[in-house]
Amino acid sequence: MEIGDLYRDVILDHNRSPRNFGRLEPADAEAVGHNPLCGDSLAITLRLKGGRLEDVKFNGQGCAISVASASLMSEAVKGLPLTEVEALYQEVHALLTEPAHVPARPLGKLMALAGVHEFPVRVKCASLCWHTLHAALARPVTAATAPTVSTE
Ligand code: ZN
Repeated sequence: MEIGDLYRDVILDHNRSPRNFGRLEPADAEAVGHNPLCGDSLAITLRLKGGRLEDVKFNGQGCAISVASASLMSEAVKGLPLTEVEALYQEVHALLTEPAHVPARPLGKLMALAGVHEFPVRVKCASLCWHTLHAALARPVTAATAPTVSTE
């Protein structure tokens, strides 16, 4: 399948019916992310268990790319050990920012995000959820207020 087809089909599908949309109550960690350039705003809640990302949900409002990316991310990271989540974060960052990046691991549907590279203004839309997840994991559990990240 051409990357262009994969991009269009996967992004459309995940934008139309986002997976893991909502909030976990209670959650072990939470973060809020904003992309002022586009107006995307996402909140991510997650549960941790035994060094794993046991569950994750996101909600908020954003463009098709930001919502589809968050949906794809939620599917990809759910159930993974935190070390794997971090490795995936690094891979997706490289996929979005480095031309012709060849992933060191199979990325499955996340490869659709490689298509975002053709639209530089959309890179921050696609990476917002990942930065937000990263912020949530960096300051988990008992934080009184959720950390907020901005792509600017
Ligand atoms: Zn956007």
